[in-house]
Amino acid sequence: MKTALIVIDMINDFVTGKLGFKGAVKIVPNVQRLLAAARAKGVPVLFVRDAHSPDDPELRVWGEHAMAGTEGSEIIPELKPVRGEPVISKQTYSIFHGPEPGRMLRKMGVEELVLTGVVTEICIQNSAAGAFFNGYRVVVPNDCVASPDEKASKYSLGYMQRIYGAQITNSRDIIKSWGK
Ligand SMILES: [Zn+2]
Repeated sequence: MKTALIVIDMINDFVTGKLGFKGAVKIVPNVQRLLAAARAKGVPVLFVRDAHSPDDPELRVWGEHAMAGTEGSEIIPELKPVRGEPVISKQTYSIFHGPEPGRMLRKMGVEELVLTGVVTEICIQNSAAGAFFNGYRVVVPNDCVASPDEKASKYSLGYMQRIYGAQITNSRDIIKSWGK
């Protein structure tokens, strides 16, 4: 099955900035290892990040964050995309809300998405829903997602497994499954 690695919202505002939290910092080395393995094995990588306009409905809930064109909306330096890796902007929780990621994934010809990043019960879970509705298999490494609310994160992983048939695993097993 052809797989893509999706890195969601690992941006300055969500890791070390305005809405940053310890758990987000903690997963950085794990996502780094997954990224390195994906690049070595030729697994396609897609970055998706918040880049908000002032009239996005989400700002009513969270206040201003990850505004388009600001440092807060940039991928953290530790996970900097390499040349040729697409970085797609989104304006709400799910990576499937706009047409661009779906189009990109079809072009890549992938069937399975490994979802990593933050926040588990928000952007990851909503993206898992979108992936499921669009016919993709979903894999979530539990050491590569995080939430400021650890209980909510744990519940969300169970929810994605039950409701979307997501495979909940860890980065080490995924790297193993990608082979030598
Ligand atoms: Zn947002």
